[in-house]
Amino acid sequence: MKACRGRIKAYLGLLLLFTVGVIGTASGEVRVIAIGAHPDDCDLGAGGTAQLLEAMGIKVKFVSITNGDAGHPTQGGGALGRRRRAEAIEAGRRIGVEEYEVLDNHDGELMPTLEIRHELIRIIRRWKADVVIGPRTNDYYCDHRYAGILVQDTSLQVVVPNICSETPPLDRNPVYLYFQDEFQQPSPFRPDVAISIDEVFQKKIFGLDSHVSQFYEWLPWLYRYTADVPKTPEARLAWLAKTQSQPITPAVRAALEHWYGAEKASHTQHAEAFEISEYGTKPTEADLRRLFPMLK
Ligand SMILES: [Zn+2]
Repeated sequence: MKACRGRIKAYLGLLLLFTVGVIGTASGEVRVIAIGAHPDDCDLGAGGTAQLLEAMGIKVKFVSITNGDAGHPTQGGGALGRRRRAEAIEAGRRIGVEEYEVLDNHDGELMPTLEIRHELIRIIRRWKADVVIGPRTNDYYCDHRYAGILVQDTSLQVVVPNICSETPPLDRNPVYLYFQDEFQQPSPFRPDVAISIDEVFQKKIFGLDSHVSQFYEWLPWLYRYTADVPKTPEARLAWLAKTQSQPITPAVRAALEHWYGAEKASHTQHAEAFEISEYGTKPTEADLRRLFPMLK
C-alpha cells in the first residue's frame, strides 16, 4: 500500500512536471498533429483550422490510423486501401498540411491495442507535437471510439522515456483536444475553442472532394442517396459544400463570441470547434491564443 502511494506520488510529480511552463518549443514554434480513424476524418474535423494554422507558419500533420480498406460497396482490400491513401495524400496537398500519413491498419477492425498505441506515441514524438487532436471516445462507429481511446492513451506516455525508448520522448505532455461531434452521452461536446473557417471553407471542400471513393461512392451507397450525386466536377463541389456544411450549434456560436467578439461571431457561417481533454496539459486562455494565433 505504501509502495503504491509512493508510486502515485511519483506519478503526480511527473504529471506536474510536464503540465507547467510555457507550451511550445523554445523557438516559439508550434506543431499540431490531428489523428483520426479514417482517411477523411481529420479533413472533416480540422481541414479549415489546419489551413489557417499553416498560413500562420504552424506545421500541421494529419494521421489516419486505418487505411480505409473497408469503406466501399464494390471494392476492398489492398486496392481500396491504396486508393484511399492516394485520395488522402491529395486531400492533404489541397488543404496544405505538411504531411498526411495513413497507417496500414484495417478499416472496420480497429482495436485499442498496445501495438497501435506505441505506433501513435512514436508518431507524436517524431512530430514534436504541442497539440494533439483526436476523436472523443463516444461515437456511432467503433473505429472512431477506439481511435479516441488510442489517442488519449498516448497522453503522458509520450513523455515517459522508458516507453518506446528508442524514440526520444517529448519534453512536455501536449495539449490534447477533441474534434467536434454531436453525441450526447455520457456528455455533450463542449466547444472550448471555436475557429471561424469562412475564409478557407471552399478550400476545405476542395480537399474533401479528393476523397472520391468516400463522398461520391461509399457514403451515398451506405445512406441510400447515390442518385443525388452530381456528375460534373463543379456540381459536385457545390453539392459537397451543401451536404458537408456543419450547422453552427448555439454552444459553438457562444464560443465564437467568446473568442472573436459578438460582431464577427454573428456573421460566421462555418466553424470548427474543439474540446480540451482533461488528460493533456491544460492550456490557459493565453496559451490557446498562442497555439491558435487566428484567435488573437
Ligand atoms: Zn471516420
